[in-house]
Amino acid sequence: MTNLIIKWYRSNKRDLPWRKTKNPYCIWVSEIILQQTQIKTGIKYYKKFLKKFPNISSLANSKEEDVLKIWQGLGYYNRAINMLYTAKTIAQNYNNNFPLCYDELIKLKGIGEYTAAAISSICYDEKKAVVDGNVYRFLSRYYNIDTPINTSLGKRQFQNIADKLIPKTGCGEYNQAIMDFGSLNCKKNNPTCITCPIKRTCKAFKLGNVQQLPVKKPKKNIKTRYLNYLFINQKKQCIIQQRNSKDIWNKLYELPLIETDCKITFNQLKSHIITKQFKILNINFQCQFNHILSHQRLIISFWDIKINNINAKKNSKKILIKDINKYPLPKPIEKYFHKEHLII
Ligand code: SF4
Repeated sequence: MTNLIIKWYRSNKRDLPWRKTKNPYCIWVSEIILQQTQIKTGIKYYKKFLKKFPNISSLANSKEEDVLKIWQGLGYYNRAINMLYTAKTIAQNYNNNFPLCYDELIKLKGIGEYTAAAISSICYDEKKAVVDGNVYRFLSRYYNIDTPINTSLGKRQFQNIADKLIPKTGCGEYNQAIMDFGSLNCKKNNPTCITCPIKRTCKAFKLGNVQQLPVKKPKKNIKTRYLNYLFINQKKQCIIQQRNSKDIWNKLYELPLIETDCKITFNQLKSHIITKQFKILNINFQCQFNHILSHQRLIISFWDIKINNINAKKNSKKILIKDINKYPLPKPIEKYFHKEHLII
């Protein structure tokens, strides 16, 4: 089966920019970006990232805010923060050279089993099998395994199978082949079983179970949160603040926020923002967005608040509204400024 998958890959592989290199820095950047990101979006961000930070030292010497600005819109911002931390570690402890094996790579922040296996196999041909979502789907169907793939038992079981399948040499090519095969041939919807080169040995195909696999344990309830953003402004200036919480959008900039347990009215909002700092001249509800994350549903309201005198508190900044784009922003905040024509 492995030989057939490699043969399939050689004639069907996608032409992707990170396939043209074995530079571990570039492979690392591509692998981190591609976690939770579609290929098409990934290509755009990969090119943008490497243009701004072409090597470890340029990334290690950059400011966190600049890295987040490049990452803006990709989500899961801790990935970018961890990359900067790891680049600094490699610059200091490894003289700007990427570690040369899986056991060293896995010690770095933000590099887990999957990423260490991908970098070490692709760049150094180390015999380490990768298991991503595509590999889980393919293996569960090929062997007709219904262990939920998002449990520790499932993860161990599929990793063991992948470890047994990987050949002694050509490990990087094999890993990329099995991921591409899962992504393009053994697809989530409408897999191309009829023309599949390994259908004769595929158990799920024989048993008619293809659409039932892989099995996932249902997620816990998705939490709903109510965020009220205050666009506190006067004379072309407004107040922003940096998030400092690990839950979402860590280190990104947002408007002053009031989080509530449910949707609130105009009067309830007013009672939340009684302040001696400035005199409120006018409050207007502006718009509401629903923003869905993998584990949370955000109901986000924006309120326009005109005040008499703008003064930023500790932990916040007074900025010119037109400069908002200089800061890394969560998607809904960027969308709000565009929608209200506050920036072009
Ligand atoms: S026969 Fe269908 S289910 Fe089996 S490996 Fe091929 S594409 Fe996947």
